[in-house]
This record gives sequence, C-alpha cells and structure tokens, in this order.
Amino acid sequence: MSDPYLSVVVPCYNEEAVLEELIKRVTSALQDINISSYEIVLVDDGSGDETARLMRAAHTADPRVTGVFLSRNHGHQLALTAGLSVCRGARILIIDADLQDPPELLGPMLEKMDQGFDVVYGKRINRAGESIFKKASAKLFYRFFRKLVDLDMPLDTGDFRLMSRKALNVLLQMPEQHRFIRGMVSWIGFRQAALEYERAERFSGETKYPLKKMLLFAADAITGFSTIPLRLATWLGFLCALSSVPVAIYVLLGFMRGTTVQGWTSVMLIVLILGAIQLIVIGILGEYIGRLYMQSKQRPLFVIDEVLRDEADDTLAPP
Ligand code: UDP
Ligand code: MG
Repeated sequence: MSDPYLSVVVPCYNEEAVLEELIKRVTSALQDINISSYEIVLVDDGSGDETARLMRAAHTADPRVTGVFLSRNHGHQLALTAGLSVCRGARILIIDADLQDPPELLGPMLEKMDQGFDVVYGKRINRAGESIFKKASAKLFYRFFRKLVDLDMPLDTGDFRLMSRKALNVLLQMPEQHRFIRGMVSWIGFRQAALEYERAERFSGETKYPLKKMLLFAADAITGFSTIPLRLATWLGFLCALSSVPVAIYVLLGFMRGTTVQGWTSVMLIVLILGAIQLIVIGILGEYIGRLYMQSKQRPLFVIDEVLRDEADDTLAPP
C-alpha cells in the first residue's frame, strides 16, 4: 500500500463513549467527498477505559484505522505529536476525539488547500455546551497570549486544522518537550488560512482538560513563546527603586528629627510586599529553569508501545 492521500490524526484519552461515533462520522465525511485513500490514526494516550479495545476492534473492521498505543498517559499535545509522527498522508487533518470539531469541514478545508495554502485551521465562532468560565478564560488567554508573544497566532483556534506534509515535516523537526502545537504551527509560517465553524458540544463523556491541565497548558504556551515574564523582575526592580526614593527621604528626615522608632506598620508592609514580589519573580524564573532542565535531558517526547496497522503495508516491511 502506498502512502495515503489523507491522514486523520486523533488523540484519544478515555474516549470510549465517543470512539465509535467518531469513526462513523469521519468515515462518512470522507465518503461524502469521495476520498478513499486515507488512514485514521487513533492515538491511545494511556487510557484506563475501553478505548484501546475499541481501537483494536475498529482496526479489525477497517484496516484504514491505525492504532497507536502509548506506554502511558503523555498528555494531549504529546499524544498528538506521536500520531503525527506515525501518520503518512500527504495531507493531515488534526481533530479531537469528542466531535466538538465537525469532520464535515474537511471538504472546504481541502478546497482551500488546493488554492495553495499549507495550513487551513478552524476558527471557532461559537462554542456550544462549554462553561462560561471555560469560554471566558479561553477568550482572555488567547488575547493575553497575543499581546505577550511576538507571533501572529490567530485568535480562538484549537488544534483542529488541515496541514500539508511540508508544514508537518517542519513541525516534527521542532524538538520541544512542552508543546503548544497551535502556536508552533503559526510559527512555522507558509500560507495559512482560516475557516470559521461553530464548535459543538462534546458528543459524550467528560472534558479531559480540568482546570489544572488548562493552567499548565497556558504556562507551557507562554514560556514556550515569550521571555517577557523574565523581564518582570527588571521592571519591578525599577519600579521599587523609583518608589523607594520618597520613602528614603522621609526616613532620613525622620532620623534627623529624632523620630525613628515609629513606623512598624510601614516596615511590615514593605517587607511583605517586597517578599511577595521576590518570591513571584523567583517562581517565574523557576518555570523557565524547570522547562530548561527537563528539555536538557533530551528524553524522547513519547514512548510508543505498539503501532497497529495494516500488515500488508510495504512501508513497514524490511528493505
Ligand atoms: N486528550 C489526550 N490526552 C490527555 C487529555 C486529552 O489525548 O491527557 C485528548 C482528548 O481525548 C481529546 C482532546 O485531547 O481528543 C481534547 O480533549 P478534550 O476534548 O477533553 O478538551 P476540551 O475540548 O474540553 O478542551
Ligand atoms: Mg473537547
């Protein structure tokens, strides 16, 4: 079998409730636009439920379904990277398992790519069924991120996008452990276009992004693309230095007048405020140093336990 025209890459973590429907929807979307040369690469990100078994069954039913089983849970971005490194299509669609992103957008995406774009990303104009907190925090984050980062990243996009092999090869050359793939794809450049869509409700099951993971993801995004937070110490230093001038004058005047004993409240406040600022700045430094340290180990990004794909496949056969 030669390389397929299209790869659909889907990271799956405890997605037993949606997997069958996902394959059904993707397959019929592909049928509708008459694409038969494709593979659906499902990545099992160390799920604890029936996801792996369902993936095996799906592969048996249709050999165009490829299963990639990771050794443990690696997190969304690394699971996606594992799938992207295994897929072989000339064009690659990244989509979430939960059908929040419509596979039917593939047709228009392919048409756009035919016009010469290397990346066609989905832009959410509406997000159904997500909490007000999630919508507001996401909106805020993407706007804050854009202010902070010197990167022309489109607002309100996820990883739902179609990429050319050329763009994917560049992405796969980027070795960072802490990945913010939607930002990295923007960074690559080439011609990119947006297609708007309404983000649907999760088909079934729970979100796999609790608040803690969302915060870590945001921290990875910011530290991965900006060093401005590191300059915070410099700015705060100047601010403290400036504001300490009048305080110093006041203190010296008090000394000359012989009224130096008073002032416990102000001393306490200054100690507390400066202590807090210093700890925050050290914490920010720590965020960068920790990532630097993890990256310096140069461990592989993910560990694949097994790739389940068509045995008749000649690309897997020894030369
Ligand atoms: N996911 C994953 N590993 C994780 C967490 C999530 O592979 O550790 C997958 C998940 O199965 C889904 C996608 O990442 O396909 C996005 O997750 P989810 O839909 O739960 O996030 P949300 O849409 O709520 O932000
Ligand atoms: Mg989702």
